[in-house]
Amino acid sequence: MLFYMPVKLYTGEGCLAEHGGEIANYGKRFLILTGRSSASRSGALQCLLSALGSFGGEYLLYDRIGANPPVSACAEAGRAGAAFGAEAVIGVGGGSPLDAAKAAAVFLANPGIGEDELYSRAWPSEPAPVILVGTTAGTGSEVTSVSVLTDSKGRKHSIRDDAVYASLAFGDPSFTYSMPLEVTLSTGIDAVAHCVESWFSKKATDLSRAASASGIRKITGPLSAAAAGKELSPAERSDIYSGSLLGGIAISVTGTCFPHNVGYYLTESRGLPHGFACAVFMEDLLRFELGICPEYASALFLESGTGFEELSALAAACLAGSAAEEISMSKDEIGRALPRWENAGSVKNTVGSPGTDFIEAILKNHFIK
Ligand code: NAP
Ligand code: FE
Repeated sequence: MLFYMPVKLYTGEGCLAEHGGEIANYGKRFLILTGRSSASRSGALQCLLSALGSFGGEYLLYDRIGANPPVSACAEAGRAGAAFGAEAVIGVGGGSPLDAAKAAAVFLANPGIGEDELYSRAWPSEPAPVILVGTTAGTGSEVTSVSVLTDSKGRKHSIRDDAVYASLAFGDPSFTYSMPLEVTLSTGIDAVAHCVESWFSKKATDLSRAASASGIRKITGPLSAAAAGKELSPAERSDIYSGSLLGGIAISVTGTCFPHNVGYYLTESRGLPHGFACAVFMEDLLRFELGICPEYASALFLESGTGFEELSALAAACLAGSAAEEISMSKDEIGRALPRWENAGSVKNTVGSPGTDFIEAILKNHFIK
């Protein structure tokens, strides 16, 4: 078993305000990556700029990172950061700006490389240090070595490398208070998906399972309440954020399973938010594993204090009224998409190794109407 998670992570309300001065350890000039508005709306950007101001830090702000960030935007930002003389990259936002910051750190240190070299990890120089400030409670990107990007063919395709782990990360739940309900639900169910999929990964270890089970314990209560229309308290938001970090720690050991990979197709082809796209297949995964390894599946329910019905109902409650309900596919479309899952790592990584016949069956079941 190997456990390697080198991120210096601060969590808790006010942690960036209290410890942001540590950013000075990574330089004086920074490239900051954000989405269009949530970095400001959440209060995270103002808090970061005041931390930089405390030690005279200078910055270049790139605020055009959209959902499912394209490699081209990361390259543009990284090269602009290199021209500015940035010494480190700071990502502020949900998983999209955080993942983009990891890739921009590669381009900042290697402004001459292109997409192929990014993905083949032929990086002449080590990526610049990465600092992350989360504003969603979902992806766990703060603590993973993964950057999920959209390549020039429009496919979601990630890089995974120890060199892109954040050096420093801040998980301040108060920055998630501004999330609208849809973002709370789509990001929260992504975190649950990480915990569940990690449990059923062939690479699961005692440590990853402990993280998975406690992540589910933290999230399911408050996320179910949110899906039922309840306004969440700061303590409940904080629990979901902690659970998302536990999910990130779990997948940093194991990677994900087939729901993530099949879900990518729904995001690419239908624009469905990432967490919803994975949630569509949560019940399929649980049912599959209950057939393959019922005792192992029951151990997850016991350790996490949930059950098949509860997790399936939570996924369904998050998806209710979302664009997932409108998706339909033809048999032809499903047939054309299937080859992409023949050798997909996260499909092979799933305990029981579901084949493409299984994926074909679940896609038909969900989408042929
Ligand atoms: P996101 O794409 O970063 O953000 C979704 C939306 O939420 C955006 O419109 C964003 O606005 C808004 N938003 C973010 N924080 C907010 C806040 N505090 N208040 C109000 N609005 C807020 O969503 P995400 O689900 O966190 O990230 C998804 C991406 O992460 C996907 O590309 C997925 O594949 C990837 N992912 C990565 C990992 C990993 O290990 N690295 C794991 C799972 C998923 P703005 O546009 O204004 O920012
Ligand atoms: Fe995810």
